[in-house]
Amino acid sequence: MLCQICQKRESHVHQTYIYVTSGQREKRNLCEVCAGLKTETQWDKEREEEKKRWAMESLQRREQSRQISQLVNEELFKPRLSEIKSKQIRSHAKSVDSANKLILFGTSSLLPEIDPMEVLFGASEAGKNHVVREIKDCTVHVFRWDEDPDRLLKNIFEPFPEAGARLDLDKKLLFVESERTLFQDFKKSLSFCNLAAYQFNSGDPAELKRFQFRFWPKAAGEAH
Ligand SMILES: [Zn+2]
Repeated sequence: MLCQICQKRESHVHQTYIYVTSGQREKRNLCEVCAGLKTETQWDKEREEEKKRWAMESLQRREQSRQISQLVNEELFKPRLSEIKSKQIRSHAKSVDSANKLILFGTSSLLPEIDPMEVLFGASEAGKNHVVREIKDCTVHVFRWDEDPDRLLKNIFEPFPEAGARLDLDKKLLFVESERTLFQDFKKSLSFCNLAAYQFNSGDPAELKRFQFRFWPKAAGEAH
């Protein structure tokens, strides 16, 4: 809400005035400058610092994501690079959350007789649809890619059979019933759901609307 006086800064000071004569109450929403708590220069400077901090943090997050991707490349892809090439293994929609140390991606082969999970993880994982690996302090979820969104959804949520995940393909939404309890850490759990939603995008950067994760509609009716 904007400040009632200057109409340009966000109001963070909420005051209630009570008129002694009439007892009438009046609510006021003011910015810190108009409320007399800060000078305009102070306010501008703080905003500037906040912007800088935010830019720095997003840069750091991007760098951390890049490092995690690289780590996965070195652990999973590099040791079997020639096989990955000859068996035409592809990875899809690699999505990383550096804060929660989580990475998700799908894998497939252009050759129908090749099992990409077997190529990446060895004979013990042949036929599996979802493999989880801890690489350093990161949890890596690799699942069998599928063109069909329902099968893809099943593969992504295979380790969480009670998750209650469903897609709304028209609205491009992913709902997950146990959105907070997939992992012990609810933040990691929500992060998994967010990264999972990303997997359903076509990969076309021109695509206007992207898939999003939405909280499970607890009450009857619309979720949003
Ligand atoms: Zn103001």
